[in-house]
Parts: sequence; C-alpha cells; structure tokens
Amino acid sequence: PKPSYRWQRVLLKVSGEALAGDRTENIDPKITMSIAKEVASVIRLGVQVAIVVGGGNIFRGASWAGCSGLDRSSADYIGMLATVMNAIFLQATMESIGIPTRVQTAFRMSEVAEPYIRRRAVRHLEKGRVVIFAAGTGNPFFTTDTAAALRGAESVVGRVESHVDREAEAVGSFACVESEQRGDGRKSQAEVQLLESVNAEVVLKATNVDGVYDEDPKTHPNARLLDTLSYQDVTTKDLSVMDMTAITLCQENNIPVVVFNLNKPGNIVKAIVGEKVGTFIGG
Ligand code: UDP
Repeated sequence: PKPSYRWQRVLLKVSGEALAGDRTENIDPKITMSIAKEVASVIRLGVQVAIVVGGGNIFRGASWAGCSGLDRSSADYIGMLATVMNAIFLQATMESIGIPTRVQTAFRMSEVAEPYIRRRAVRHLEKGRVVIFAAGTGNPFFTTDTAAALRGAESVVGRVESHVDREAEAVGSFACVESEQRGDGRKSQAEVQLLESVNAEVVLKATNVDGVYDEDPKTHPNARLLDTLSYQDVTTKDLSVMDMTAITLCQENNIPVVVFNLNKPGNIVKAIVGEKVGTFIGG
C-alpha cells in the first residue's frame, strides 16, 4: 500500500557545508549518522528517498578557479569528485545501520559506484533503497542544487507526467506492434515499466539555517523567517536560496522546494513526511 504521507518520493539535497557542521575536518560523522537515522525512519514508513550531496565542505570550483592557473572546468571537476567522497561516506554510514543504499555518479567511476541510469535509480527507489546521486550534473559550471533539481525532475518527481505519458504512448504503440507481431497481445516489459507511475514530489534542501529569511540573518538580527514563497519571489527578490538555474528548473517542472535546517533533530523526518518546517517554495 502507498504511504499516506504528503510526499511518497522525495529528493533530499544535503550540502557539503551541512555535512561538516562546525568541525574543521570536512565531515562530522555525528551529522552523517543523524542523517542516516532520520532517513531510516522515513524509509520504514514507506517513503522513497533519493539524495543529492554537495561537495563544498571539501572543494568548491568557483573559489579555486584562477589559482595557480587552475581553469574553471578543472576546478569544477575536482569539486564534483569531492561530492563522490561525501556520497561514499554517507552510503557507508547508511549501510552501517542497515539501509540498503546505492551511489550513482554522473560520470563513470564504476569501481566505486554505479553510473547514473534513470530507470535503474527509479527501480532502486521502488525497492526501498536509498539512491545517492553524486558528481553533480557531471558538467562544470553547474551546482549540486541544479543536480538536485535535475535528478528531481527526471527521476523523482512525477510531475513530468505529460512527458512520461507521451513516452509511454510512444513505447506503448511500439509494444503493441511487437505484441501483434508475437500475436499474443501481451504487454512488453518496457510497456509495463512505463505504465507504472513515477510519483513523487519535492526537493528538500537541507541547510544550516532555519529556512529563507527576508534579509541575511547573519547581518540583520531582525530578519524574518519566511513561511512560504513563490518561485517568482525567489528569482526577483534576490533571496539566496538556490542558484537561478536550479530554481528555474524547479519552477518549470512545478517541483516545490522546502528549505530547512538539518541541525535540528527531527527536521528531516518532518520535511519528508510533509510537516511544516522551514520555508516552502512553490507555485
Ligand atoms: N560542481 C560542478 N557541476 C555540478 C555540480 C557541482 O562543477 O553539476 C562542482 C562545483 O565546482 C561546485 C562543487 O562541485 O563548487 C561542489 O558542489 P556544490 O558547491 O554545489 O556543493 P554544496 O554547496 O552543496 O556543498
């Protein structure tokens, strides 16, 4: 039976910075363990969880580009590799408490992780495995927020229904021809797979702050935490939530975004089951 929670399949974005907490080392194992435990509790409720990890705790391309002749693309590839380190750390932590977890990378590193294959990712999710998407989008000049929006749109969020339907129709008619040729009227495996709905719904952005404020809370003590925002508010008011590419991709695909604080125990569960937490960005 499908769970009755607000979201059935979520994409959780965990920034590298959030993994570091306030430690000088790159990763705080207490944080990865608390993420793993919270994710475990929602997996038990039947919610499907995909994760995109950032790499800013180890390397951020933009801040290193130009240093000693390092060009932006090379710097960004190093940044993408940093996300793979975080992904493997998180995977090992998840598996240490019994959550089956797969890492899929945007470029091939097949000795350490699976390559990204959309249908395979969806299958893992359906089987109750956590899938961690690493190496961002696989392209320099992008961010892992954009990777979260992209993977959300293509693998996770069923709002691409019209697209899925069109694809199903195309493959469906192909399958009919196949079954006519076979003369048995059976649906092909591809057709059956496409007819299963891909329904999930949200990008959850875990950060070190409670949500989106009207002003920068570090410099403005009276800054107000905003409950809800439209995509347009985010793009026109210059609120630093996500980069433009990421938020526009979410808007175009009608993917709501919830920005919330990872450091408050219970918040991941709240965000995943759809309780009010942080800032909700949508329509
Ligand atoms: N990166 C990239 N393409 C992507 C995603 C990430 O080139 O699609 C690189 C970029 O250099 C970025 C680094 O990987 O600075 C780490 O990712 P990000 O800064 O998004 O991590 P976060 O801020 O979430 O920790």
